Amino acid sequence: MRMRKKKHADERIEACSDILFKPGEDGSLPDDPFLAHDKLHMEIGCGKGSFICETAKANPDVNYIAVEKISNVIVSALERAKAENITNIRFVISDAAKLCEKLKEHSVGRLYLNFSDPWPKKGYAKRRLTHRGFLQMYKRILKEDGAIFFKTDNRPLFDFSLEEFAAEGFKLEKVTNDLHASEYAKDNIMTEYERNFSSMGIPINRLEAYLQNSEKNK
Ligand code: SAH
Repeated sequence: MRMRKKKHADERIEACSDILFKPGEDGSLPDDPFLAHDKLHMEIGCGKGSFICETAKANPDVNYIAVEKISNVIVSALERAKAENITNIRFVISDAAKLCEKLKEHSVGRLYLNFSDPWPKKGYAKRRLTHRGFLQMYKRILKEDGAIFFKTDNRPLFDFSLEEFAAEGFKLEKVTNDLHASEYAKDNIMTEYERNFSSMGIPINRLEAYLQNSEKNK
């Protein structure tokens, strides 16, 4: 049963291969002009893709890479992008840790982390996508004026992340513990997890982390 389900997903993924970048054996992406665009943004853990699809439609001048490690999940994202004819997203099925190692340095202008797995046990802190080990990796691929936009329902993960960002020298802006009640709500594009959590009345934490003071870039 499990096998059949997987096989079906593989066929559906294959049908969307024109919007999928397949990493080579060493984990690197093809040398494609899409990645050389001067506005290249990336989401790690795109899930079923509603955030990245909405964001890409609202920003046709930006090219997006959407990374997700679970193929049975990303299939919905691929099919949606294809059905809606969204041409400025390429999807990658990969572990972000592996992919980030291979991306060109200082090529990504913005990185989105939405509702990343919290890994609540202390012993697993290094697996959190906002652990300083990951932040160091993101610093290599982010442009000088690049930023990380992070949202989570999980307050302990958020508080942990505030410390990690500060330790790596990021400047934090637009920090809120209740995004939907804040002034930033009007530009917010919801994710699937966000819809679920907020329908349960759980407040959403949100921040922007800049490598340098964003005032310098205005
Ligand atoms: N962003 C979506 C899904 C959140 S759940 C939303 O907000 O609705 C977190 C997602 O991140 C899961 O789909 C999980 O498979 C993916 N993920 C976690 N760690 C990852 C990693 N290292 N590389 C790629 N995807 C990852």
